[in-house]
Amino acid sequence: MVNHGPRRGKRVALTFDADMTDAMIVRLRRGEVSSYANLSMLDLLEKRKIPATFFVTGQWAEQYPQVTRRLAANPRFELANHSYEHAAFTADCYGLPRLPAGRMTGDVARTFRVLEPFGGRQTRYFRFPGLCHDKAALRALAPLGVTVVDGDVVSGDPFARSAAPVVQAVLSTVRPGSIVIMHVTEANAQYTDEALPLILAGLQRRGLEPVTLSELLGEQPG
Ligand SMILES: [Zn+2]
Repeated sequence: MVNHGPRRGKRVALTFDADMTDAMIVRLRRGEVSSYANLSMLDLLEKRKIPATFFVTGQWAEQYPQVTRRLAANPRFELANHSYEHAAFTADCYGLPRLPAGRMTGDVARTFRVLEPFGGRQTRYFRFPGLCHDKAALRALAPLGVTVVDGDVVSGDPFARSAAPVVQAVLSTVRPGSIVIMHVTEANAQYTDEALPLILAGLQRRGLEPVTLSELLGEQPG
């Protein structure tokens, strides 16, 4: 299990979760929300040539195949697994519906099968929905050879009401080796694109350099 990378050096990893619960799909279908894909944030990352790691749920990739292709096509981005339907792997996980123990391995394996055809920089990194995990959940994933990644900087971007607290949450806790958790889910994290330029400027002031998770963890030359 990984919370952060080497504390020596100047590297940090920006990670973006792409949640997609059954309830979110219903809201999309009913037209109650317009998008769970923050395209202006992707524009910014691309324009500024910022490396990033995306933890994608299988259901998000199925809702947004074109955006997923766009992520896979960027050599600075890598893809990781955030479960299939963003259900809870433990009891009491932010009110998410609970995934039965017998379905945990299959849920995560299914997401790899959904993501693989997109190509690009695939990884075996996995992040639990809501970061909720226990021994039973970790045991269920052992056969899949995943590296479980939490993070040490929680941006709090889901349901933030402005960009400032998100910027503050990141810049007050980030340090060398940090793994920053943000979201690409637009309607559920509306200010992430607005916060990102300020976060990038703050990282630069501290001499911190964003790299992909595999680069941070030394699994690929950076
Ligand atoms: Zn999530």
